[in-house]
Amino acid sequence: MSTPEKITIVGAGLMGHGIAQIFALHGHLVRLVDSNEDVLNIAKDRVRDNLTNMANQGVVFDESFDVILDRIQISADLAPACEDPDFVIEAVYENLELKQQIFSDLDRLCPSKTILCSNTSVMSITEIASKSENRERIVGTHFWNPPYLIPLVEVVRTEESADWCAEATFDLLARVGKKPVHVYKDVPGFVGNRLQHALWREAFAIIDEGICDPATVDEVIRNGFGLRLPILGPVETADMVGLDLTIAIHDYILPHINADPIPSTTLKEKVDAGELGFKSGSGFQVWSEEEIAQSRQRLANYLIGIFAGQHD
Ligand code: NAD
Repeated sequence: MSTPEKITIVGAGLMGHGIAQIFALHGHLVRLVDSNEDVLNIAKDRVRDNLTNMANQGVVFDESFDVILDRIQISADLAPACEDPDFVIEAVYENLELKQQIFSDLDRLCPSKTILCSNTSVMSITEIASKSENRERIVGTHFWNPPYLIPLVEVVRTEESADWCAEATFDLLARVGKKPVHVYKDVPGFVGNRLQHALWREAFAIIDEGICDPATVDEVIRNGFGLRLPILGPVETADMVGLDLTIAIHDYILPHINADPIPSTTLKEKVDAGELGFKSGSGFQVWSEEEIAQSRQRLANYLIGIFAGQHD
């Protein structure tokens, strides 16, 4: 068996520590870098908590947590973590100038074999790479939160990314149990966030227009077509119901579906009033601390259950 690739992750926050966990679990040596020592010092504890939570819900690990965690080395400095990695995954704040600077530093510090990836949620990989010289080795790897439980990673190539770079990244992700997909064009939101926010825009437009109350929007999705989504995406569903029926429905309904290029009125009013959701205790509904904890736990339990089922 070939030696597992060395992985450097820049940014040890919510996404970075979870991405480190994926690679450490699959035998890779991981160097985890963060400029904030407080974040860095708790990163491995966060990984241990995630693993404990998963084990408590029936996920079986082949190795002890200590063995897995020993593969993660933390560092406050970028340079030592750039000596010989095969891949670097950047997961710092969503700030274009910061990401451009980090990629320019990575490009200067890393050997020519190293592939450089950004975990930006929506920013142009082309722009992030624009201050670097060797842009052929730069791609997007858009993980979803929590990255160790949600399988999808969008591998986004720019017009300058080399095919070998996108293919090697895709191959690595598949080997650590992810479900990578190729995104051939570097467009805002890539594929997943375009689809997700098309649905959210319509959800908020329905609330703006008073067609139903906010809780009903979620109920319609969760108890209706949402039940089909893990099994059938819209493309396969269209084939199932018939493309002739699909076009007839679209002819009738598309003129009525929201296409505004700006956020919803209700959303804007709530944000202006400081109603930000969990973080302020009220959003589309009022949230107690207990309800917030229950909501987070319900999601974690559901995702861990799926993960456990896939890794039996
Ligand atoms: P976060 O705030 O939890 O973590 C970012 C970390 O980057 C912080 O710990 C910070 O100290 C560190 N950092 C900042 N500047 C640095 C530097 N110069 N060198 C080293 N470390 C530095 O943010 P997050 O939620 O983990 O998001 C990270 C990236 O992942 C963002 O681009 C975000 O858009 C993307 N992303 C987030 C989610 C999500 O749901 N949170 C999902 C997918 C993608």
